[in-house]
Amino acid sequence: MFADEALGVLGRLQHHRGLQLSEEELYRFAEPLVKRSLRWRCPSDEEAAEELIRQRGDLNLPEDQVFEKSLSLLATQLIPAWLEDAQNARADRLKMASESWESLGVEDLEGAVLHVSVSLELGDRRALRRSLEVILSQTTDLRLVLQPAFLADLEARGLVSLDTRNSSNHWCQHVQRAASLACLGEKAGVLLRRHGALLLSEGQVIAEGFNHCAPPLRPRGLDPQLGRHRTFDSPEEARTVAKLSWKRSRPRPAQRHAEVHCLLQVPQLESLKSSHTEILIVELADVGPGFAWAEPCSRGCMQLLMKHGVRQGWWTDGKGGLVTRPFRHEPGLDVAAATFEGSGRLSNDPISERSCLDMAWKQLRETEGCRPWTQEELVQQGAEAVAEQQRQAPLKLRGRVFPLPPRKRSTEYAQALRQKGHA
Ligand SMILES: [Zn+2]
Repeated sequence: MFADEALGVLGRLQHHRGLQLSEEELYRFAEPLVKRSLRWRCPSDEEAAEELIRQRGDLNLPEDQVFEKSLSLLATQLIPAWLEDAQNARADRLKMASESWESLGVEDLEGAVLHVSVSLELGDRRALRRSLEVILSQTTDLRLVLQPAFLADLEARGLVSLDTRNSSNHWCQHVQRAASLACLGEKAGVLLRRHGALLLSEGQVIAEGFNHCAPPLRPRGLDPQLGRHRTFDSPEEARTVAKLSWKRSRPRPAQRHAEVHCLLQVPQLESLKSSHTEILIVELADVGPGFAWAEPCSRGCMQLLMKHGVRQGWWTDGKGGLVTRPFRHEPGLDVAAATFEGSGRLSNDPISERSCLDMAWKQLRETEGCRPWTQEELVQQGAEAVAEQQRQAPLKLRGRVFPLPPRKRSTEYAQALRQKGHA
């Protein structure tokens, strides 16, 4: 149980069972609970409630010492103070994780990559060297396993010698380049599932891309006259024709994937199929300094690569290697029908809808003789969406105790209930 769940137990007892705590009771109960939860020695809800009842019995306080706003005191003053003196909680947890991993004694690459970063943070060079050995026993080159910033850190500390990085395999350099592109996605509003991609023609990089926030899509819903879903021109139209709610008639957030980002920069899409075109995709692991499985998704990326004649895909496998597969060339593929306009799993999918719109727009520009978009211009198109996302981000951050997000239940509602005699 984490600190916010400890608060949850108290909240439930106070709101639903009318429990009132004196300041002394609150302190005696909550302090060890929160400190324990910060160090992961977590009691269950039942254990916590039992402990509270036991302490109430011990204290026997007179009625006038009951403190009315104990929960807000806990949230605004006590826990922030405890968090400050719980500085060692993080190191405690990391140490615990590191010891459990070592006691398992398995030679798993993903685990070893996490263990390297934990050991680095704890300053345990012995453990770090051991894990690096495990990684090196399973891979040809650390550049296929570790993200550039982390690798540079290891190198700066003298833990990785240039020899291990000095490989003739050009894919290792490409993987590192694609990984640094994936990092650019963070500024462009993508914090999870960070992908970077390189499009190569005859071995030469012709475009670079990464997942980023794209301009939002217009509302989509069932058109009763057509009997199928369609995207409406405006929120007003969506509300009148499809009777969509205000919430559902708002612009829909969309991302542009690294593969599509690359395709949109190619001067002539036609040229891709006449040369040997390949794509490399790298995904940064959400946790730890390694890579994840980065196969192109079927939300438009794979279909568009096949349609436009990209012959071969390469991607990180999350296990220290690269996977490669040939792609079938399917020039006649109707990507929209196969994805968001279809009736299957991808029906109404915003990522594929965004990619189809983008590609149609790109092809129109090509026929009109416009120059292709640059990487930066494409990212810039979604700048407003990124700003909007950042405005909303603090409330969405999970696992955060402070500041507490404002409660949705309004006091006006509670007052109205009280006036009606429900309280
Ligand atoms: Zn994709």
